[in-house]
Amino acid sequence: MLTLRGRVPRRGKFLSDIGIIRDGALLIRDGVIAAVGARSEVELLPESRSAEKLDVGGRVALPGFVDSHTHLIHAASRAEEYELKIAGASYEEIARKGGGILNSVKKLRAATAENLKKRAHSALRQFAEYGTTTLEAKSGYGLNVTSELKILRLHKELSAEQPLEIVSTFLGAHVVPAEYRSKRGGAEQYVALLTDKLTPEVASGRLAEFCDVFCDRGAFSVNEAKKILEAGKQHGLASRVHAEQLTRSGATQLAVQLGAASCDHLEQVSKADIRALAKSNTVATLLPGCDFHLGLKQYAPARALIDAGDIVALATDYNPGTSPTVSMPMILSLACSQLRMSPAEAIVAATVNAAYSLKRDRRIGSLETGKQADIAIFDVNDYREIPYYFGANKCWMTLKKGQPVFQKAHT
Ligand SMILES: [Zn+2]
Repeated sequence: MLTLRGRVPRRGKFLSDIGIIRDGALLIRDGVIAAVGARSEVELLPESRSAEKLDVGGRVALPGFVDSHTHLIHAASRAEEYELKIAGASYEEIARKGGGILNSVKKLRAATAENLKKRAHSALRQFAEYGTTTLEAKSGYGLNVTSELKILRLHKELSAEQPLEIVSTFLGAHVVPAEYRSKRGGAEQYVALLTDKLTPEVASGRLAEFCDVFCDRGAFSVNEAKKILEAGKQHGLASRVHAEQLTRSGATQLAVQLGAASCDHLEQVSKADIRALAKSNTVATLLPGCDFHLGLKQYAPARALIDAGDIVALATDYNPGTSPTVSMPMILSLACSQLRMSPAEAIVAATVNAAYSLKRDRRIGSLETGKQADIAIFDVNDYREIPYYFGANKCWMTLKKGQPVFQKAHT
């Protein structure tokens, strides 16, 4: 059992602390961990005798994954662009031709809420199959009042209809939509729509906890991002930023200044950015699935971030354009082989540190007394085999608040 007990957030050498108990057991009461420790001790507790017993047969149990960056709600895949990318077109070239995010926006606006929900339900079942128990979900394929609110309302409805916890983020600032691009001063008008109309509406409807901006070439500038994130903060939405993915924009410095919860991507991050993050409580969320899917050679410099003392987290960035995966185990494989993180570091980054970036570390991310019984059980002998067996799903069972939400058949 990997308890991941101990300090949160974890930096530097503490990023390897996974709190192993060789022959462990947990006592769960009403979805909360009532006791955790050596099996011989937990089994002796008076309450354990009357408890329903689940023997996981020597498999590896760890906290359910916390996927702190997803674009859950979208209408369709972009497989046609995948093929163009393989043939050599860059992500930005495709975007300029009306592909990319704007392609997904067109499809989302045309989709019914019912169909979007059906697709999201299917994805959420798959997230559970790979051991994820909590995920963040961003809007950002609506980009007008009606469609952005449609997505955020779906986050709320899905939270009530299925067992995984969804943390909602408002990403109206994904890109400037086509109808504003074509007119003079359009970008400015769109930013005003976000800050003056949508943000207050999102906040008053309690439709999101976080506000996010894609700050990069072809998306929003640092100045625009500042306006949008400050408006979010005024309305009680904490900041997250898509930063330094395609180019170094300076978004990381802005994120640190604003006390953002998370700064995500960071492929092009500078040494000064890494130092600024180290002095802050802003989490560096790495998304290697994106670079893998796009076939890019430059991954985020995870070792430099860890050695400097940044708080490192990992997430899927589940989205139809750049990272169409729900699999946190695959992200761990990429973190190990491409980012040179150890299996233990990758697991901490995908659980406690990710929970910290979502302001939920007191409740989830580790298996400790008083925390929610969110558990992933893998059919492996050694936790290092979770990233080792890449591309195969070794998750055997997933529990949310002590209740199974996924169980592998034929075992
Ligand atoms: Zn993203």
